[in-house]
Amino acid sequence: MSLGLPSRLPGAPSVGALIRGETPTFSFEFFPPKTAEGERLLWQTIRELESLRPSFVSITYGAGGSTRDTTVAVTERVATETTLLPMAHLTAVNHSVADLRNVIGRLAGAGIRNVLALRGDPPGDPMGAWVRHPDGVLYAEELVRLIREAGDFSVGVAAFPYKHPRSAGVEDDTRNFVRKCRAGAEYAITQMFFDADDYLRLRDRVAATGCDTPIVAGVMPVTRMGTIERATQLSGAPFPPALLRRFERVAGDERAVRELGIETCSAMCARLLDEGVPGIHFITLNRSTATREVWQLLAPAEVAAAA
Ligand code: FAD
Repeated sequence: MSLGLPSRLPGAPSVGALIRGETPTFSFEFFPPKTAEGERLLWQTIRELESLRPSFVSITYGAGGSTRDTTVAVTERVATETTLLPMAHLTAVNHSVADLRNVIGRLAGAGIRNVLALRGDPPGDPMGAWVRHPDGVLYAEELVRLIREAGDFSVGVAAFPYKHPRSAGVEDDTRNFVRKCRAGAEYAITQMFFDADDYLRLRDRVAATGCDTPIVAGVMPVTRMGTIERATQLSGAPFPPALLRRFERVAGDERAVRELGIETCSAMCARLLDEGVPGIHFITLNRSTATREVWQLLAPAEVAAAA
């Protein structure tokens, strides 16, 4: 199958190649805004984080394909109006193969060659029944193939340190993850996690199968007690009990919660870097301050000072 796209999308570096490079990548994740105020905040954040010179930034795809146009538009604007390298998320929910090819073609037309291929969750209830579009794909693995066949895209996939909530066990989860890599994914980014050992166990499980796909760590600092509940809902993984007790001890003091969130996220990232993680991907929720604080604690002093 060919979309008639150029076999090489000119210009843009490949995120897969960057992640396989000598030094760990640092990247930021944004979501497409729904309101004018949200749009203003996003662009302010992008401008503030641009000076940190991340390796790339990613733009999520709204549940159920709800942000098809804004994801493409924001990704294109990042490519044309900033110095940043954008990557678009793409999900299969509610899309036929023809719809997916259409979005892939639009991304290619905008010069975007980096795509994160995801199955997506049902809109409304992430754990609700997953209904395949009658003319769509069933698993991310098929979407990886579709994108790779469409042109010279660098494709990444999702990984789940604690296993995907729908997976029967870690063995199934690992086997299915490796299938996505063999289908053509060049790298993976994890769901957010709060215990470095969960990441390291995932990395070991995957390596034990002989799969050498680099797995970037997805992280999000806790900035409010509400983040803990939200993170648990989003990731389907329990929040580490010992860490939860530390947050509960300071729960009445918003500032102390935030400081502990920045400190523990930085400490986890530092350990991951010591362990040779190929990259760290910050889920920013379209705000720059917490990400910048963690980054400054991690970055070499001269780099942080220049930012
Ligand atoms: P898959 O890899 O298809 O896996 C889904 C389930 O099916 C797993 O349990 C897996 O083990 C199982 N499975 C896979 N292949 C097979 C097979 N061949 N046979 C049997 N079982 C199989 N969601 C959004 O809506 N928009 C986003 O922008 C977005 N960005 C994300 C970014 C990251 C870094 C991560 C980690 C997640 C993101 N998500 C996003 C959430 C993601 O779409 C959901 O977690 C979704 O439920 C799983 O997607 P997947 O691509 O891992 O699915």
